[in-house]
Formats: sequence, structure tokens, C-alpha cells
Amino acid sequence: MTESDRVDVGGVGVSVDHLIGGRRVSSPGSFECRSPLDWQHKLADVARGDAATAERAVEAAVDGFRQWGGMPVGERAAALRRVADLIEARNDDIALVETLDMGFLHRSMRERLVARGALNFRFYADMAEAHDEPRWPARGTAHTVQRMPAGPAVVITPWNAPFMLATWKVAPALAAGNSVVLKPAEWSPLSASLLADLTVEAGLPPGAFNLVQGIGAEVGAALTADPRVRRISFTGSPETARVIGAAAAANIVPFTAELGGKGPLIVFADCDLEAAADQAAAQYEDSGQVCLAGTRLLVESEIRTEFTDALRVRTEAHVLGDSRDDATTVAPMVHPDHLARVEGFVDRARAAGDTVVWGGRRRRGSLHYEPTLIEPASNHSEIVQCEVFGPVLTIQAFTSEAAAVELANSTRYGLSAIVYTGSAARAERVGRAVQAGIVWTNTFLVRDLAAPFGGCGLSGIGREGGNHALDFHSDLKTLIVADHTTDRPSE
Ligand code: NAD
Repeated sequence: MTESDRVDVGGVGVSVDHLIGGRRVSSPGSFECRSPLDWQHKLADVARGDAATAERAVEAAVDGFRQWGGMPVGERAAALRRVADLIEARNDDIALVETLDMGFLHRSMRERLVARGALNFRFYADMAEAHDEPRWPARGTAHTVQRMPAGPAVVITPWNAPFMLATWKVAPALAAGNSVVLKPAEWSPLSASLLADLTVEAGLPPGAFNLVQGIGAEVGAALTADPRVRRISFTGSPETARVIGAAAAANIVPFTAELGGKGPLIVFADCDLEAAADQAAAQYEDSGQVCLAGTRLLVESEIRTEFTDALRVRTEAHVLGDSRDDATTVAPMVHPDHLARVEGFVDRARAAGDTVVWGGRRRRGSLHYEPTLIEPASNHSEIVQCEVFGPVLTIQAFTSEAAAVELANSTRYGLSAIVYTGSAARAERVGRAVQAGIVWTNTFLVRDLAAPFGGCGLSGIGREGGNHALDFHSDLKTLIVADHTTDRPSE
């Protein structure tokens, strides 16, 4: 690796350059990266990749694939485990850079999300190694299914929880034997640069992992249009997915899209109301900038007042502050433009006749928007149907289980749902009836990495997680050999 421009981010040296073919590479242009904790504070000018950068990165990934894709799986797995070890060793640095860059609570970064990044690498190292090729006899032949690495993969990630999401997508691509070009979001590009350092330190061959910084419509578009790319793995908004999907279609390249959500949090009268209210209040924590958040509160009529009161008490106890302070429970919004977008949603809701029960305004002097509860005039209200991605919950009442399910399934999204009930039978019925990629009952966010992950409808295409991600990143081949085939001694 050549020396590169490094900036000091909270005492951690972070390269602002791309990583291409194992070397740090700069660009003539740059974009500004500011901290949501103090918007006046510029963290870095980051290399702004262009079409030439994308060309160079894909070239490096094509070269890197030759070596990485051909390596014995045990060697690849060992390299991925070294990345996991290095993530763990740099946990505090990564957590701090992520908090300064993106704004999420330092406590959850430090204690949870970075560690999950290491787990993603370790899990996929184990999974790749443990993979047994399916074999079976049929009509006088032996059938074997081989998983072949597909080739260079482009991974495009959003600004929320960028480190965890990047590792979630990069680890299975590498484990499958693909080389990777990662393009993180321009609002939170820095932790990906630390990941790039760690792949070099772990001894991945040059070009196996490449990082390209820049603007989505510029370098992102160039990467996804390149015909040498064999997989595109995207997390972000449906609007961008449409553009990337068109690029993937043009080259007949498989792509997965993990998109937005508008998850219901369904609260039945038979549940532990205190636990349900805790869970609802927790949806405000990272300012609602979480795709899986349960932002539509659907509450059984008979407990509506009691539940709303319990939620109000908890909301009032929230502390909006500096994300580095462990006393803070609500993080700021990532960017002033996003704050304005959230504000626009609430202002339009008010104007359309929805009732703002609490919150509904920004805080002076920071990028915080107050935790907000809205009672919509109708289920058709924009605030119910569209992803706000902010600390804004809506509340609606229902009078029967069937009505709850109907409301839960009444948006175009289908990423996740949360159910609170004291009945195991109801948990089973409602869980099965809700259209979503994941339904949690009496819990949230716990998920074994072997489980599939993805959404229905506007929430996405395809599934990642477990074997699903390895299959996506592989070309499956069936080998059929007649039983009477024998090895003859060479003549
Ligand atoms: P976005 O779609 O604006 O951007 C996502 C990424 O795509 C960024 O890296 C961006 O630079 C890139 N991009 C933009 N235009 C591009 C183009 N034309 N070609 C190639 N790349 C392009 O999304 P965002 O605002 O960064 O993220 C928020 C969205 O992500 C929300 O909708 C949220 O729900 C969703 N999200 C989903 C999940 C999930 O797992 N389902 C997880 C986190 C976030």
C-alpha cells in the first residue's frame, strides 16, 4: 500500500483516498464530509471518484479475482478471519469514526454494531469452509452441484450504519470467491476506509477488495454500468434501486436490493404493555434512521390511551444530545438536507389534517428533530404510506386481529414487522399473515446470521444472509457423470 492522505478523525488517522489494486489512489476532485455532531466541523475532503476511477477499480477487481477466486477456500477463510480479528482489535477506533461521521450513538457502535461487522466476516469464513457440495445419484448418473465464484462484485451501501452494512455485504461476496468494489455513501464514507486498511493488513491479495469513494450518480453509476461486473449488491432507497436495476438489466447481471421499510409495530391488548412501550420508544433512538424500524404503531383500541401515556413518559425521558455521551439516547440526523426532508414530511402531514400528538419540530443548535408522534387522518396519509426515515411514529387503532393484519399489510413496503402479544398462537398466526421479510414477536433486531434477510414489495429484491448470500454471489453448476465412467490408466 502506498502512503496516502490521512486526516485525523477524533485521533484516528483515516485515508480519504480510494483503495484500488491494493494501493491508495487519489482523485483530482473531492467532496466534503462533515460531522452531524457539529455541522460546522469539516471532517475531511474525500476523493471524488469519476468514470475513470470506476474503470480502474473494476480492472483491478478483474485482476484480483484471478488470484482470490482461484485460492483454496481454506486460505480465503483464513484471510477473512484475520479481517474479523483486526476489526475487533480496532473496535473503538471504528466506532468513534462511525459516530463522528454518521452520528449514530457511540454506545451502540462501540458495544454492538462494529462487533457485528467482525462477526459477519467470521460467519462467512465458516460458512464457505463448511459448504458441502450437494451430490446424489439419479438414473445411472452421479449429480454434483458446484458453486463457482461469479466474478467481480460491486457493493453499494447507504449512509446509515455504514460499517456494519458494508461488512454484511462484502463478507459473503469475498467468502464466495468474488472480488469486490465497495462504494459507500457520500454522507458517511470514512469507516469504509478503515475497512479497506484492514483488508490490506489481513493480507488479501491486491484487487480482491477495492474501495471507491464518490457520488452515487457519478462513480456509482459508472461502476454498475461496467459489463465486467458480475454481481451488484445494493442497499439504499427504491429510487436508486430502479436506476441500478436498469444498469444491471442492461448487462444481464444479477442484483439484490435491500431497500426501505415502513414497518408496523403491532401492540395487542394481551401483551406486556410496559415492554411494548419500551420498544416503541426505542424506535426513536437513532432518530429513526433505521430501515427496520417499527414506525407505524398499530394499537388495539382498548389499550390505546394507556399505551400512548406509557409511550409519552418514555419519550419525555429521551435525551437529545451529543452521540458520544452515553447519557444521550437520541442521535442527531445525519445531514441538514435529511433533517429538512423529515421536517417536510411532518409539515405536509399537519397541513393535510393529520394530528401531531407530540414533537413535530427541530431543535435549535443541532441536527436533532424532536421525537414525534402523529395520529393520521387516514391510512392513506403520506406520513403512513411513505418512509420518513426520521424520529417520526404514527399511531392507529384496531379492533380485531384481522384488522391489525390488514393495516400492517397496507403499504407498498414489506421489510419487517414487530408484534407484541402474550399469546403464542397469535404470534404464529399474525407472524405468518404479515407480508414482510422478517417478523419479530416480543423482541427486535435479534437475528442469527444464517437467517435470510430482505424485503417484499418496495422493500427489495432477493435475499441475503446465510446461504442465500453465498448462492447469490456464486454461479451454480451441475456436474453429471455416468455411473460407468471409469478412470483408465494413461497410455
Ligand atoms: P440512496 O439510495 O440515496 O443511496 C444509497 C447508495 O447508492 C449510496 O452509496 C449512493 O451514493 C448510491 N447511489 C445513488 N445513486 C446511484 C446511482 N445512480 N448509481 C449507483 N449508485 C448510486 O439511499 P440512502 O439515502 O443512502 O439510504 C437510505 C435508504 O436506505 C433508506 O430507504 C433505507 O431504508 C435504506 N436502507 C435499507 C436497508 C436494508 O437492509 N433494507 C438498510 C439500510 C438502509
